[in-house]
Amino acid sequence: MSRIVVLGAQESGVGAARLAKQRGLDVFVSDMGAIKPDYREVLKKHGIAFEEGGHTADRVLAADEIVKSPGIPDTAALVKAAREKGIPVISEIELAYRYCNGRIVAITGSNGKTTTTLLTHHILKKAGLDVAVGGNVGNSFAALVADGDNAYYVLELSSFQLDGIREFRPDIAVLLNITPDHLDRYQHRMENYVASKFRIAMNQREGDHFIHCADDPESNAWLQQHSVKAQRLPFSIQHSVERGAFLQDGHIHITTNTSTFSMSIIELALKGRHNVYNSMAAGITARVLEVSNDLLRESLSDFQNVEHRLEHVAMVHGVEFINDSKATNVNSVWYALESMNKPVVWVAGGQDKGNDYAALMDLVKHKVKAIVCMGVDNAKLHEVFGGLVPTILDTTSAEQAVVAANSIAEAGDVVLLSPACASYDLFTNYEERGRRFKAAVKAL
Ligand code: ADP
Repeated sequence: MSRIVVLGAQESGVGAARLAKQRGLDVFVSDMGAIKPDYREVLKKHGIAFEEGGHTADRVLAADEIVKSPGIPDTAALVKAAREKGIPVISEIELAYRYCNGRIVAITGSNGKTTTTLLTHHILKKAGLDVAVGGNVGNSFAALVADGDNAYYVLELSSFQLDGIREFRPDIAVLLNITPDHLDRYQHRMENYVASKFRIAMNQREGDHFIHCADDPESNAWLQQHSVKAQRLPFSIQHSVERGAFLQDGHIHITTNTSTFSMSIIELALKGRHNVYNSMAAGITARVLEVSNDLLRESLSDFQNVEHRLEHVAMVHGVEFINDSKATNVNSVWYALESMNKPVVWVAGGQDKGNDYAALMDLVKHKVKAIVCMGVDNAKLHEVFGGLVPTILDTTSAEQAVVAANSIAEAGDVVLLSPACASYDLFTNYEERGRRFKAAVKAL
């Protein structure tokens, strides 16, 4: 019997362990830290052997194969030791793929993954397909495969998950965009990160589809040097494309093999330029899977936006409040500001990840009337934007920030929480930050 060791016991590790056990493999789970009680219960319930609070090297290195959670870097001592011993180290995505009978839509990119994944799932589900959704959002792929045999799987994939694939081959691969992120895990080399993203297409064949952004310089540069076997379906808001999707005269046009689809962007449920991209990527996928034009139009217009992503919270005395707490990097904020068409009171700050704000200067100058800093250390925001924005205030909680923003904003303005930073200085995570912001708005 094949001996599988799973490193890391969170959503993906526990999913992998459960699937491996279900398929009759000998499984052992090992976690460096404490395992969350809910996950510990799942392991016990399924009779899966585990250890926590440290790895027993001998036992881990006795594996025939190791499933590594995406959070564990390749530089971890045990991972290195396993590789030196010649033990294959894979991701949970690869394991799940071996047991998956359904067709796979896999979605990656630096920004927009969750939105596009959930939108694509919404469209396919409304079209009546037997479809499951998960991966880097919600349930792990392995958990989905363990729990059922769906005809279609829509998966959000991070670059860390793609790093651990070998044979994984999506029928449809979507690469939304590539901008610098997580470079600490890629030897600070952009080309390594780009290569990691393109792994999504590496096993694809001629009959498969590869959907990508024709306006993305990093993707284009890579595609000039390398080829993909799958049929390419690009999307663009800058120029027309023969097959794929493009924006013209305020309409998106999608052309696949079968027919052409057009729809005004005013009807799209998701607002903002970045969401035109996300809607085009999901729309192409739907047309490849032959979802009817009518159904596609309906589902692109009635999708409920995902929490914490340019989420409309409320109108208070003519001031609109928007929660974009998920915008934890500069690029996301760029798209958020770009899509604002009213004067902005910008709530920003938190734990800085070495941000370079240069790309925002122009937008901030033209659109932002005041900045409300929400963070323990706001010195950098003052330094960067001090000469540009007349009013910059400091606050150290969501409640204070909302009250301060409300006192500056006038009817017709928008208060936008789009922090560009991680949340860990004041909150547990971006979800808590967003929820506290919304609660404070509702309390006004
Ligand atoms: P991910 O799952 O890749 O982190 P999300 O869908 O959660 O992406 O969106 C995160 C943030 O990124 C959003 O709040 C939005 O501001 C921004 N964003 C969404 N889609 C795009 C896109 N296609 N390009 C650039 N930024 C985007």
